[in-house]
Amino acid sequence: MHAPSASPQLIARVEPLTLTRAVRGPFDYRLRPEQSDIGVGALLRVPFGRRTTLGVVLELATDSELALDRLAEPDAVLPPGVPADLVALAGWIAEQYCSTPARALTLVLPPGAAGGARPKRVLVAELTDAGAQALGDGTTLTDRQRAALQALERDGPVVAATLGTPTLRRLETRGLVRVESSTRARRPASVSIGRRLDAAPELTAEQRSALDPVLGAIAAGSGSAGRFLLHGVTGSGKTEVYLRAVQETLAAGRGAIVLVPEIALTPQTVGRFQARFGDVVAVLHSGLGRGERHDEWLRLRSGEARVCVGPRSAVFAPLDDIGLIVVDEEHDSSYKHEGDPRYDARTVAVRRAEQHDAVLVAGSATPRPESVAALRRLRLSERIDQRPLPPVEVLDMRGVHHSLHPRTRMALADVRSASGKAIVLLNRRGWSNFLSCRGCGNAWMCPNCDVALVLHRARDLLSCHHCGHRRRVPARCEECGSVAVARHGAGTESVEQELLEAFGGELPVFRLDADVAAGKDRLAQTLAAFEAARAGVLLGTQMVAKGHDFDGVTLGVVLDADQTLRFPDFRAEERTFALVTQLAGRVGRGEDKGPPARVLVQTLAPTAGSLTLAARHDSDGFLEAELARRRALGYPPFGSLIRIVCSSPDASEAVAVAGRLYGLIAPAGETVLGPAPLFRLRGRSRSQLVIKCRDRQAAVLAVGAAVDECAADAGRRGVSVSVDVDPQ
Ligand code: ADP
Ligand code: ZN
Ligand code: ZN
Repeated sequence: MHAPSASPQLIARVEPLTLTRAVRGPFDYRLRPEQSDIGVGALLRVPFGRRTTLGVVLELATDSELALDRLAEPDAVLPPGVPADLVALAGWIAEQYCSTPARALTLVLPPGAAGGARPKRVLVAELTDAGAQALGDGTTLTDRQRAALQALERDGPVVAATLGTPTLRRLETRGLVRVESSTRARRPASVSIGRRLDAAPELTAEQRSALDPVLGAIAAGSGSAGRFLLHGVTGSGKTEVYLRAVQETLAAGRGAIVLVPEIALTPQTVGRFQARFGDVVAVLHSGLGRGERHDEWLRLRSGEARVCVGPRSAVFAPLDDIGLIVVDEEHDSSYKHEGDPRYDARTVAVRRAEQHDAVLVAGSATPRPESVAALRRLRLSERIDQRPLPPVEVLDMRGVHHSLHPRTRMALADVRSASGKAIVLLNRRGWSNFLSCRGCGNAWMCPNCDVALVLHRARDLLSCHHCGHRRRVPARCEECGSVAVARHGAGTESVEQELLEAFGGELPVFRLDADVAAGKDRLAQTLAAFEAARAGVLLGTQMVAKGHDFDGVTLGVVLDADQTLRFPDFRAEERTFALVTQLAGRVGRGEDKGPPARVLVQTLAPTAGSLTLAARHDSDGFLEAELARRRALGYPPFGSLIRIVCSSPDASEAVAVAGRLYGLIAPAGETVLGPAPLFRLRGRSRSQLVIKCRDRQAAVLAVGAAVDECAADAGRRGVSVSVDVDPQ
């Protein structure tokens, strides 16, 4: 067949945005001559089989394996599309996390474009020359039409709905007005609008020496040398170092991304960036409306905003020249995405920095061993106000049959007499851990998951923390009829009651956990109320140890600190150490009030290394021991883990698919553990494989190929397969 030779780029290779693993593009489409401006990353609506779908252009080409006249043409182009560097990044993510190009592309689409929704647009009407003439030359017009034309003549273009869209449409058919769809700018509330920008403080000597190499790397615009870990205790001024690095990046004419764990828990950090740099800062997060997110995205895409602050998804901010990526609180597990692709924003940040030749700065008081091994470490060893970190005391709870140790009670009583503040952390929400019958031993389990239901007394229900199943609290045992029901373990709800009983209204309790935080505003309100209160206890799950700077907290308490250690997970030590250290960082800041600052750690495992090292504020000691342990066991950073979970309503089908995957992957030479049963979740039985690999790249490719090969068969058997590279 003879292709016309006029246009050099006639074919677009398009990845359809479908979730099915079995469908894998790209597919070729023929572009019309007037579509020659379609480039890589353009978002198209294309015919696909008997329906249409959205697709992203991966590549342009001049020829196709198929005859040109057999190729379909796109139905529509949906601007603004995806920047080309993000298309490349999505391809990398699909491969590295054993996902599909289509799923990875959904991560980088403009907000609102996924799922087929167009970016929100409005109709705008404008007077034509003929329309202006019609007002003067006696053309027949209804009163309403005349009024509309006069308004357009007076006010210029307006949103059509304000003058009546049907009226304008009729005028449009007569050529008297033009009606076009256009985007309208929506801005989230910004603290900086109309406000003087904050001045930068004089840096301390420590900050200066930490910042110098970062500034050097920014000035050099170099890639590989510019990978830093800012390891500094809480309150040591890390954020100020990020701010200076961003300032320098902007001065060099480039953009910056600042990743924070969760916006709701870190509003202070976001506010500091806006206060320093004003409107050049855009914020992207899920708390914004879809329209706001879309418009912030466009501000970044157009270059109007050059700094993006946001949680993990902000790593995909559409900046076209990135000079710096900051990852604040880099130890935080929220950087890992829990849906497919299960990407880790910290790893993606490194890749994106490579793409743009940008400098990377990760910071934490409790950095991950992986980061210590991979990045150049810069230290901030003292708090800005020179205050020492509070002493930490480990309390042995063996033989203590209350949720509060006697010393904890005394310390809280001291806080009460001084009208001070305390933070109490218990990583378990609800009233009690589980219920059992004293008569027959029956325990109340979730019907969908093999786990115990948790008592929530305030709402009078038992609930499953995995699938959300809930039921009324039983008055008697359904097995034997006994009314003697025992409650085991304490949760935030019962500790709240206990604190109120012990200390009364003089020490109000502010509870913060997922039950409270279900409403986004409640979370911010609770934090603000605790901040404003004269005295009180902030009680909650790990959320209470994240990101917040409260003045005047003199006591921190961790209840059941080894709870995190009981998880069968190689990160248990790291998590426990971080929890205690982060809480200690929140204690003893700001103005002096109440008794001397201190931290109490209640535990059944008082000799656990992660606790004793945290008690000594010895993060170097901890990291050294942890790296040695991981080296011996081949855990990250000395090897990688990949987890595959097969789940199905039918246990034997899940095991069968896991077995088949084992057979495909094991010969590639990596250690494959399993198939091992996991507890049933949401009515699905699960079977797990864990691959411990030395050669990560080879293992990722082998797993990706094996999962693709099994996809169709697994689908027929009703088995879903999920792959997690670098599981948390
Ligand atoms: P981190 O991020 O390490 O927890 P911050 O950057 O929040 O620490 O700093 C703690 C406090 O010290 C903040 O209130 C900050 O405004 C203040 N601060 C930081 N650097 C300086 C400085 N060089 N001079 C005066 N105050 C500073
Ligand atoms: Zn019973
Ligand atoms: Zn459940």
